[in-house]
Amino acid sequence: MMIQVKRTNRKSIGYSLAPEELTIFVPNDATEDDKLEKILSETTNHCHNEMITKERFNQILNDWMGKMQVKPKKVQLKKMKSKWASCSPGKAVTFNSLLTGMPEEFVGYVICHELLHFKVPNHNKLFKSLLSAYMPDWQERISNTIDFVLNQCK
Ligand SMILES: [Zn+2]
Repeated sequence: MMIQVKRTNRKSIGYSLAPEELTIFVPNDATEDDKLEKILSETTNHCHNEMITKERFNQILNDWMGKMQVKPKKVQLKKMKSKWASCSPGKAVTFNSLLTGMPEEFVGYVICHELLHFKVPNHNKLFKSLLSAYMPDWQERISNTIDFVLNQCK
């Protein structure tokens, strides 16, 4: 699952709603200060500590692995610049450690999305329909998260 930054004509920072990525639109004339890393670190720093603990993260992960009957051989949490998560289906999955600074509903979404790649490797129609079956409110989760990030950036 990607995090993308795109430059556009718009005057303010925006976000798109797509299952495969969280795209952040920044103004064309934005300075270095508006780069993704700053936005993300501001977002995560604003929430003093962690919004969720690593224990809670693992709990959510275990719940989804049980529900989806998916068991990665290896799971790691590490800081990444351009992705919320990545995986080699059937084997390993890596989650961005910045996720612990994000709302729990978004953490659940990223986990569900990534584990679903163990069943469907791309973002085709089947992926989207399974995603909606496992998590009917995934779009709402992303838009709530966008509101959360925008509030942190104020
Ligand atoms: Zn994906």
